[in-house]
Amino acid sequence: MSRYRLHPTPAQEAVLRDHCGHARYVWNLAVEQHSHWHPGRKGAPGYLEQCRQLTQARAEYLWLAAGSQTVQQQALRDFTQAMKAFFDPGNPAGRPSWRKAGRDEGFRIVGRGRQWDVRRLSRKTGQVWVPKAGWVRFRWSRAVPSGAKSYRVTRDRAGRWHLAFAVIPAPVPAPGNGRVVGIDRGVAVSAALSTGQRLHAPALTAPERTRLRRLQRRLARATRGSNRRGRVKHAIARLRARESDRRKDWAEKTSTGIARRFDLIRVEDLQIDNMTRSAKGTRENPGRNVRAKAGLNRGILRSGWGLLVRRLADKAPGRVQKVRPAFTSQRCSACGQVDRASRESQAVFRCTACGFACHADVNAAINIAAGHAVTARGGDGVTRPVNREPHLLLQSE
Ligand SMILES: [Zn+2]
Repeated sequence: MSRYRLHPTPAQEAVLRDHCGHARYVWNLAVEQHSHWHPGRKGAPGYLEQCRQLTQARAEYLWLAAGSQTVQQQALRDFTQAMKAFFDPGNPAGRPSWRKAGRDEGFRIVGRGRQWDVRRLSRKTGQVWVPKAGWVRFRWSRAVPSGAKSYRVTRDRAGRWHLAFAVIPAPVPAPGNGRVVGIDRGVAVSAALSTGQRLHAPALTAPERTRLRRLQRRLARATRGSNRRGRVKHAIARLRARESDRRKDWAEKTSTGIARRFDLIRVEDLQIDNMTRSAKGTRENPGRNVRAKAGLNRGILRSGWGLLVRRLADKAPGRVQKVRPAFTSQRCSACGQVDRASRESQAVFRCTACGFACHADVNAAINIAAGHAVTARGGDGVTRPVNREPHLLLQSE
């Protein structure tokens, strides 16, 4: 895992909470300024102008001035970076959006040696310097990457604190074997390779799912605002966090493995957010099969597909191609015939022309590997909200 558990003292926790609140306040201020901006208008304030405004705001508001200027300036810098990513057609990220208290809690510190440092106390304990909080202990669960330039502290919904060091990951060298792999995103199978291999992103175990269902029932019965309700919510959040940790870990390992084994990696150019959003439709034009699609979409998100593709792009720069997914699931990878009827079921592909039979996702992956309809990825004009800065690449493995 790329994260470390942070264990602040109660006094330090109060400082960290303030940092989170200030970072969120400054970020949301920037979001608000930019929300008034639209094409054709005079530019929204840039980073320098925003820094000047921040200085003014700090002069005006004591509570802001009492906080760390480093934290607040960094939030602005993160926002600027997020906007840049949003306008970069080669890296279409979503538009930076509002951060909510209790949900998007975190801040970032840069400037190792000046603003922060890290030291080891014992085999399992380290300390990181946080401005205004001092040395905060964390569990030294793995080596701290030597090239770490910055770190991010976050508080999850279960109330746990985490520390993640940002490093530029060294790209995984291409094996030089000339091998091409296609990867198809599936719902039941998280990812199918054109080699026939099927990868499953880990989820909760059956007993964990049972426990989750029980907790959710209990939550529905609990009185609003009661202690019991708080405890149940906390337990649910911990289960969800466990699932998401497992998926992240899986995406790191899987992407490294694929980047090592293949020279060229082709994936479907899936606009996950498009798909997940389209099901609802509008009031005038309600989506069809809303419930079925919603189920499917949850599956896609849960499968960690987006994360896997992002990590692949990080680790194999210039070696990942996006293929337009049109007909990849209906086209026979053996004879090329396109027929919807060939897709017998979710899992089975059987060509109506030549009889070729294969796992449906693997058949699609072979089509993707062949690179049919390879297109350069341009700006798609779709805005997807993000409430984080573009992820600085976290240390993997
Ligand atoms: Zn065929």
